[in-house]
Amino acid sequence: MAQLSEDCFAFGGALLPVEKALSLIAERIVPVTESESVPLASSQGRVLAEGLMAPFDLPPHANSAVDGYAVAFADLLPDRETVLKVDGRAAAGHPLPRPARPGEAIRIFTGAPMPEGADTVLMQEDCVAAEGLVRLKPGIRRGANRRESGEDVAKGTLALAAGRRLKPADLGLAAALGFSELPVRRALKVALLSTGDELMEPGAPRAPGAIYDANRFLLTGLLAGLGARVSDLGILADREEALADALQSAASAHDLIVTSGGMSTGEEDHMKRVVEGLGSLHFWRLAIKPGRPVALGQVGGVPLLGLPGNPVAVAVTFLILARPLILKLAGAIEPPPISFAVRAGFSYRKKPGRREYLRASLRQEGEELVAQKYPREGAGILSSIVRSDGFVILDEATTAVAPGASVKFLPFSEVLS
Ligand code: AMP
Ligand code: MG
Repeated sequence: MAQLSEDCFAFGGALLPVEKALSLIAERIVPVTESESVPLASSQGRVLAEGLMAPFDLPPHANSAVDGYAVAFADLLPDRETVLKVDGRAAAGHPLPRPARPGEAIRIFTGAPMPEGADTVLMQEDCVAAEGLVRLKPGIRRGANRRESGEDVAKGTLALAAGRRLKPADLGLAAALGFSELPVRRALKVALLSTGDELMEPGAPRAPGAIYDANRFLLTGLLAGLGARVSDLGILADREEALADALQSAASAHDLIVTSGGMSTGEEDHMKRVVEGLGSLHFWRLAIKPGRPVALGQVGGVPLLGLPGNPVAVAVTFLILARPLILKLAGAIEPPPISFAVRAGFSYRKKPGRREYLRASLRQEGEELVAQKYPREGAGILSSIVRSDGFVILDEATTAVAPGASVKFLPFSEVLS
């Protein structure tokens, strides 16, 4: 298991900019190295451990892209109709068992290997066949409707790069190249727990002053979307000994511990002291809203990510910081999520010096996409995420948004898996 140095997340500055936090994560998190071989059909979402080279040309043979007639281009008259004898037949899975003869057209179907000697295919719609002959229109170009062997992926070239999180099309490509198993990184084992005396398990009768634990379910879904194996450690009371025991045993069997709540410095917030007692903890006072201090620490060399308690702050800090951390730890290599410019359909004022993630939905207005901000902003308003399509990201320097201004939009779909 990757060991982290005690102070690897230390940051002395006052407010840590999001970009700086991201670069600390990129620099300091060491991926798990173990890999395993898994059946192709169950490899979706796993991180490819080694680059996959094409063992042969794909497609393996030149073949017809249409149903029609395969001919030698040299047999075609350039300026008028050509009439050729039709003799052989080639269908997918049933190649012509001999080379094509000069002056002959071969009846051919999509996917059939191109007969040796034929280089061009005329679509059947452009041909008139009768009594063993076919009349071919002039004007086709040499090589038309022929798919070359290796035109998709050439033998010996990289088909899928190491670090790729496997998607359905990747599985298709690996299958086309004959792979029945793939080498993937071991899935991350993540321990997940919530802290707070007020929290109850959904389904239990609610006690006075209690709320149901929302974060653990939000986080289970987010972690599962990243391919992590989640151990649900439940709800922990705000008691130091219970927390310490739980964290210590979690550290022995996991690659990462994710907690929510109890990270502030109030007298009911014990995470800081407990984690410091077991290993080390670095509070990041992030220049982000929403998202109260996020903490990164380690217990027994295992990274611990202490997320805020408020559910919207949990979602934002997870999607913006925990997600890249987890992907790095899992060995995934991918470009950052794509955001794009849209028009603001609202006005807003903000303090400079921190990055804000407003929840917003998109609507199409003519050619333009317009972002409408969710009307309520509080870090506890979980419905703001449920009813939105993504984040409008306002950078540190921004202090106001006027209707019609161009703003950066990050769709949830870019970061939910
Ligand atoms: P804390 O950081 O523990 O002070 O929590 C901040 C706010 O988030 C409080 O209102 C908590 O009740 C709330 N909160 C903490 N954990 C959860 C949770 N798992 N589900 C829903 N709300 C929570
Ligand atoms: Mg609490």
